Amino acid sequence: MESDLIIFTPSGTGHPVLQDSDLPLSVDNNVLVDGYCRVNGPQKNVYAAGDVTRLEGPKWIAKQGHIAEIMAKYAVYNINNAIIGNPKRKGYPNHLNIVCVMDAGNGAIFTLRKWNKEKIIPMPTFGHWIKKAWGHYWKLSKLKKVPRIPGM
Ligand SMILES: Cc1cc2nc3c(=O)[nH]c(=O)nc-3n(C[C@H](O)[C@H](O)[C@H](O)COP(=O)(O)OP(=O)(O)OC[C@H]3O[C@@H](n4cnc5c(N)ncnc54)[C@H](O)[C@@H]3O)c2cc1C
Repeated sequence: MESDLIIFTPSGTGHPVLQDSDLPLSVDNNVLVDGYCRVNGPQKNVYAAGDVTRLEGPKWIAKQGHIAEIMAKYAVYNINNAIIGNPKRKGYPNHLNIVCVMDAGNGAIFTLRKWNKEKIIPMPTFGHWIKKAWGHYWKLSKLKKVPRIPGM
């Protein structure tokens, strides 16, 4: 992609709060959790979700908003079931994927990466407007001003 400036922001280290904690951390200082978002250490009943964790999965995996949401949802589900004595648990690894529409200002690029497939589809002009529309829908649906489309 042509651009005036490219900024690469590697996730070099985790949040400083973690470094001051007694939580088990990866070499890059993110919290180690199992597939059910349970902290992988001596601590009992501690869960973590989202960017703060070390994601276990394929090399191509990236921390993404929808993965943070799934992890948070499943962590809550698993905590609730632990409290009420229900043995069912939900794990996030099956949901690892990358779905991204990268807005380029005058168009966009759709990228998809799953365990078994990968796709890059250029979306000239309309892609930019789709991404813009998504932003509005996302905000309004999070504020519960419009209904959430199932699966989105
Ligand atoms: C430039 C960029 C582009 C991205 N694009 C996409 C994309 O297109 N699609 C996608 O799915 N994901 C994208 N992501 C990733 C996505 O934003 C994150 O994966 C997601 O926001 C993680 O959510 P989270 O709740 O785990 O963490 P965050 O959203 O980072 O939330 C953590 C919150 O904790 C607060 N906080 C920090 N320290 C403290 C403290 N000491 N006390 C209290 N609060 C504190 C922070 O202010 C923040 O609000 C992008 C990320 C970046 C940086």
